[in-house]
Amino acid sequence: MNRFFLLGIAVAVAAGVSSGFADEVGQEIAPWVPGTMEIHQISTGRGNAGLYIFPDGTTLLVDAGEIAKKTARHTPDRPDGTRPAGEWITRYIRHALRHEPDPALDYALLTHLHEDHMGEVVADTPVSGTGAYRLSGITEVGDKLRIGKIMDRGWPDYRYPAPQKGAFVTNYQAFVKWQVANHAMAAEAFKPGRNDQVVLRHDAQKYPEFEFRNVGANGEIWTGAGTATQPCFPSLDQVPRADWPDENMCSISFRIRYGKFDYFNGGDLRGIPYEGFPQWHDVETPVAKAVGPVDAAILNHHGYVDTQNEFFVATLRPRVWVLSVWDAAHPTARVWNRLQSQRVYPGPRDVFATDAHEAALIVTGGLNKLASRHGHIVIRVAAGGGEYRVLIVDDSNESHHITKICGPYPSK
Ligand SMILES: [Zn+2]
Repeated sequence: MNRFFLLGIAVAVAAGVSSGFADEVGQEIAPWVPGTMEIHQISTGRGNAGLYIFPDGTTLLVDAGEIAKKTARHTPDRPDGTRPAGEWITRYIRHALRHEPDPALDYALLTHLHEDHMGEVVADTPVSGTGAYRLSGITEVGDKLRIGKIMDRGWPDYRYPAPQKGAFVTNYQAFVKWQVANHAMAAEAFKPGRNDQVVLRHDAQKYPEFEFRNVGANGEIWTGAGTATQPCFPSLDQVPRADWPDENMCSISFRIRYGKFDYFNGGDLRGIPYEGFPQWHDVETPVAKAVGPVDAAILNHHGYVDTQNEFFVATLRPRVWVLSVWDAAHPTARVWNRLQSQRVYPGPRDVFATDAHEAALIVTGGLNKLASRHGHIVIRVAAGGGEYRVLIVDDSNESHHITKICGPYPSK
C-alpha cells in the first residue's frame, strides 16, 4: 500500500462524505459536515418545525409548533405521545447537531403567530424552571437550547394588524422578554427585502455563494431588486375591519440560496382568497414574482385549500416539494392536482410529506404518488450547492435510521 493509494482513499472518503454518499438506507443518518447545507423538516404530528444547518455550521430553527388537542382529523404524534413536541424537537436538534460539543441555535424564526408554528398553551401546560413562562413548542426548545437571535413578524409591540391576543402569544412574549434579559438572546422584527438579517455566523468568507433573503412579512414584499419592498395590502384605514389581513396572510417568507440551489419557505401564506374576499388576499402571487424558480420548497399552509395557486406553482416550479402534515386536509385535492399538473409546469417533481392521513389518502387518490408518506424530511445540499439529495428518516422512534434516499438532483 503506497502513499498515493492512501491519499486516494482519503480523497474518496472526503468527497463521499461531503456529497452525502456515506448515507445508506437502514443506517443512522450521517452527521453534518462542513460545506454541506441541511434542511430538516421535523415530523411531530403537532405542527411545523424545521432545522436548517448552513454550510459553515450556522443553525436556524424555523417554527416549533405544538397543537395541544388531537382529534380524529389529526395525524398521530411522532414518534409518540409520551413527550411534548417541544421535547421531541429539542432531542432531534441535539442529534442533528451532534458534531457540536454544546449544541445551540444561532437563530430561530417564527413564520407567524399560530399554535402549530409556535406552541399552544392550555391549563396543564407545564411552567418553565425560570417561572417566567410555560413550556410549549418554541418556548420549550428555547428553554433547553440557547437561541442567539429570534425573529418574528410582530416584535416588539405585536400590534399589526391588531393587538395580539391569546395565551400562547402572551406566553411567547414572556419567554422572549426573559431570554433577552437573562440569556442575552437578541429579538428582532423580520425585515422584508434584507439579506443581512440571517448571515453565516462562523465562516461567512468561506461561502460567499450563500444568501438568506428575507422576502416578505405583514404584506410587505420584496420586489426582487436590491432590498426594495412594496406593500401588497392596502392601508388598513382603507379596508373594512372584516377584510383585514389575517395571521396566515401576514406570514414571513424567505429564500435560501447556496450556489445554484434555491429553497423557499412561505409559512402559511394564502394564494387563493376565500369566497368574497378581495383579490389582495392573494399573497403568493407577489411573493412568487420576487422569488422566481427554486429547486425545493415547503408547501404554504400545509397544502390547505387556500394555497399553491397556479401562478405560484408555475413560477416556483420546484423539483422537490416538502409537505408538513398534521391534519386530514393536508393537502387538499385541488392543491395536489396543481402540484402534479404537467400543464402548470413540465417535468418531473417529487412531493415528500411528513405524514398522510388515511382520510386524505382515500379522498385524494393520487396521494399514493407521494415520494414519501412518513418521516422526517432532510434535504442535504452538497458542498457548493450543485446537487442535493432528500433523505427520509424514520419518525416512529429515535433511531434516526434512513428509510429512503432520493436523488441526487442537480440544482437548476
Ligand atoms: Zn400552520
